[in-house]
Amino acid sequence: MANERTLSIIKPDAVAKNVIGEIYTRFEKAGLTIVAAKMMHLTQEQAEGFYAEHKERPFFNDLVAFMTSGPAVVQVLEGEGAILKNRDLMGATNPKEADAGTIRADFASSIDANAVHGSDSAASAEREIAYFFNDSEICPRG
Ligand code: ADP
Ligand code: MG
Repeated sequence: MANERTLSIIKPDAVAKNVIGEIYTRFEKAGLTIVAAKMMHLTQEQAEGFYAEHKERPFFNDLVAFMTSGPAVVQVLEGEGAILKNRDLMGATNPKEADAGTIRADFASSIDANAVHGSDSAASAEREIAYFFNDSEICPRG
């Protein structure tokens, strides 16, 4: 499988629960390397732009309100098959449907406050990484 990069966000609910480190440990134990990271309190404009693909969905306003409700931690994960690997670690969007042992099963409260975001395809990963990071902010290991 190819070496890939994916965009991950620890959402405001998980930051508020003080589980940034536990989630980072899961990434690292799965063989993913954090090659860029920042904590940000997203503005309305940043959240709307990031989730533009969902703007016609009924949950869009609630999603934007939630994503701007507190600080989030945004990171780029790198590794073999990173996009799918991160989605597997995250679990299903609705934590009630997420497999045991996934981040969402363990830390998410609801489908709205579901702890993490992860890019769902190579095209999304490319767009989402560029949305938050300049090339100079990404620090791959040698
Ligand atoms: P994922 O984050 O698993 O890729 P989606 O891209 O479908 O899921 O949706 C983006 C985010 O919008 C979800 O993580 C969740 O926070 C929210 N969301 C999705 N579907 C719903 C829904 N039916 N009701 C409320 N919020 C939703
Ligand atoms: Mg998605």
